[in-house]
Amino acid sequence: AKKVLEVKDLKMYYFASRGVVKAVDSVSFDLHKGEVLGLAGESGCGKSSLGFTLMGMPTAPGKIVGGSVKVDGREIVGLPEDVLRKEIRWQKIAMIFQGAMNALNPVYTIGYQMIEPLLYHKGMSKEEALDKAQKYLELVGLAPDIVYRYPHELSGGMKQRVVIAMALLLEPDVVIADEPTTALDVVVQAQIINLMKKLKKELGLSMIFITHDLSILAEISDRVAIMYAGKIVEIGDSKKIYYEPAHPYTQKLLSAIPRLHEDVEKLEFIPGQPPNLISPPTGCRFHPRCPFAMEVCRKQEPELKEIDRDHYAACWLL
Ligand code: SF4
Ligand code: MG
Repeated sequence: AKKVLEVKDLKMYYFASRGVVKAVDSVSFDLHKGEVLGLAGESGCGKSSLGFTLMGMPTAPGKIVGGSVKVDGREIVGLPEDVLRKEIRWQKIAMIFQGAMNALNPVYTIGYQMIEPLLYHKGMSKEEALDKAQKYLELVGLAPDIVYRYPHELSGGMKQRVVIAMALLLEPDVVIADEPTTALDVVVQAQIINLMKKLKKELGLSMIFITHDLSILAEISDRVAIMYAGKIVEIGDSKKIYYEPAHPYTQKLLSAIPRLHEDVEKLEFIPGQPPNLISPPTGCRFHPRCPFAMEVCRKQEPELKEIDRDHYAACWLL
């Protein structure tokens, strides 16, 4: 399949007063048309920062300091803000922000909030825009007359569907979904996952699905990337990652998932804290927490290398 997103050696650092935080540090991966890439890791590993960076909008005081992001073949690193806004963001690449459903404006109707980008970007008339908004509400399983309602009249699950519809309205090639199920109860979570699967199938959506919950990723991802301390440490086919995780960090993350029918006492937790990204550990960043750490791990950083077909990991053991 065609590559809709090509990320090479991407670096985004936060220039904070206490030092430079290397939140995204030499990240490379591709996303193919119609594919869901799950992006997982503990909170603070740089998953959301990577999402914002791909949108060309690192949060202040963040700056892209190197690398390349091609969306549908077009380089977006270095493009001026007005070009990003007019031609790329929302139209080529869109993001469902974490908690966006709680950021809907309470004083405007859903329809009003949905049609704004259609008026601005597509030059549609109000009627055309409203019509399109209603179509997209139906696509995400909501009644079209939701356009006349206010956010407070909707349940959490409904608001999340609205936010998903908003991200899709300008028909982007790539959608980044940041923890789209995290604030919802288990039943609604499952409904949203099913909706995402349906959208993937019906629209041929290419998606990056960010979550700290690996059990959700198994459901939806074709491939999975595991991030640790601003870097991708393992990436590959999701079944491979689940059944034959290669990197010790991935193994630890997976053993921390509560599995059905499994004794809760057998759960393992990953000891130690994610590292400080201002002065990350030397060598392999996971070495202070890794049960297999060797001399070389403290000194030299392992590169991502292909250990199996389309399965890459960065670890000196491999
Ligand atoms: Fe552990 Fe060394 Fe592999 Fe890092 S490189 S995960 S410290 S064995
Ligand atoms: Mg996050």
